[in-house]
Amino acid sequence: MVYDPGNIFARILRREIPARTIYEDDYALAFHDIAPQAPIHVLVIPKGPYVSIADFGAIASPEEITGFWRAVSKIAEAQGLTQEGFRLISNSGPNSGQEVPHFHVHLFGGRTLGSLLT
Ligand code: AMP
Repeated sequence: MVYDPGNIFARILRREIPARTIYEDDYALAFHDIAPQAPIHVLVIPKGPYVSIADFGAIASPEEITGFWRAVSKIAEAQGLTQEGFRLISNSGPNSGQEVPHFHVHLFGGRTLGSLLT
C-alpha cells in the first residue's frame, strides 16, 4: 500500500495538528488516543512513513525497528504499567478496521482488560 503523507498521524508528526504527546525520541512519538478505551490508551508511532506493521517489519531498518520497540517498552514502564500489566494492539489493513494508515501501536492499561481486544 502506498503511504499517504496526508494521514492524521503524519500531520501530528509534522506538528500541523496538536496531540497530547507523552514521549518522543529519534524513532517514536507517543501521544494519548483522542477517544480512549481504557484509563491509559496511548498510541506509539514510528517517525518513518510506514502504513502498518506489515511494511514496518518488512522495510524499516533494524535500527528503526529496535528503536521503536525499545520506545514502546520505555513508555509502558514510564506509565507504571509493567507490574500490573498492559496490552498492545496494532491494526493492519481492512479486516482489522485500521483507520489511520500510519503504523501505530495501541497501548492499553490502567484496568483489567477483557479476554479479547479491549
Ligand atoms: P486504528 O483503528 O488502529 O487505526 O486506530 C486509530 C486510533 O487513532 C483510534 O483509536 C482513534 O481514536 C485515534 N485517533 C484518531 N485521530 C486522533 C488524533 N487526532 N489524536 C489522537 N488519536 C487519534
